[in-house]
Amino acid sequence: MRFEDQRQRLVAELSFSGISDVTVLEVFSKIPREDYVLPEYKEYAYRNQPLPISEGQTISQPLMIALMMSALKLHPQDLVLEIGTGSGYQTALLASMVREVCTVELHDSLSLKAQKTLKSAGFKNIYYRIGDGWEGWQKAYPAYQEFDKIIVSAAASEIPSRLCDQLAEGGIMVVPVGPSLAQILHIIYKEKGELKIRKDCPCAFVPLIKTVKRGIS
Ligand code: SAH
Repeated sequence: MRFEDQRQRLVAELSFSGISDVTVLEVFSKIPREDYVLPEYKEYAYRNQPLPISEGQTISQPLMIALMMSALKLHPQDLVLEIGTGSGYQTALLASMVREVCTVELHDSLSLKAQKTLKSAGFKNIYYRIGDGWEGWQKAYPAYQEFDKIIVSAAASEIPSRLCDQLAEGGIMVVPVGPSLAQILHIIYKEKGELKIRKDCPCAFVPLIKTVKRGIS
């Protein structure tokens, strides 16, 4: 079956699994997942499952990405922060729906590869940072302090406080929280300066790695 047909079949599967946000389904029907997986996994690109990328990481499961994107209630004017660029697949989906995406990846090799793929796909509304996502967006350009939506695609051992600080008033953040293979997807709303947390569903992401800061001894 052609990739194009496999892609439409995946969209039907997402819809059947309860994804009803039409704009989310639309971007899944447009972005070629086969461009974001390793060459040896291209034939599995449209299986609804995570697949290995390099550095021991994975490209997320399409249904999980669709659930997270639906929970964010994305708007065309949104400024979005993504933690864990990975393959860049989810970055492409987001950037097709919103104004701008700022994306942070810890592994430079993954970020550089994703940047190459996303640039050759023609995206001009994505900003990249190589660094620790626990710190949020720490870059001089664009010097954004706050984001309408934040999506974390790795499992945090606790709710990342720096990311809560960078969530704008009225904003929404989705983040898997918990130990390896036993996390709960948290949906966090900022209303009148207060955080409201809704625990959504179980999930299994690779860990959001904590980098150790060297202190002055
Ligand atoms: N949405 C991506 C998911 C990749 S998996 C995709 O579909 O391809 C999670 C990613 O988070 C990995 O690329 C991993 O390297 C990255 N990551 C792990 N810990 C991190 C941290 N502290 N800061 C930024 N990125 C991190």
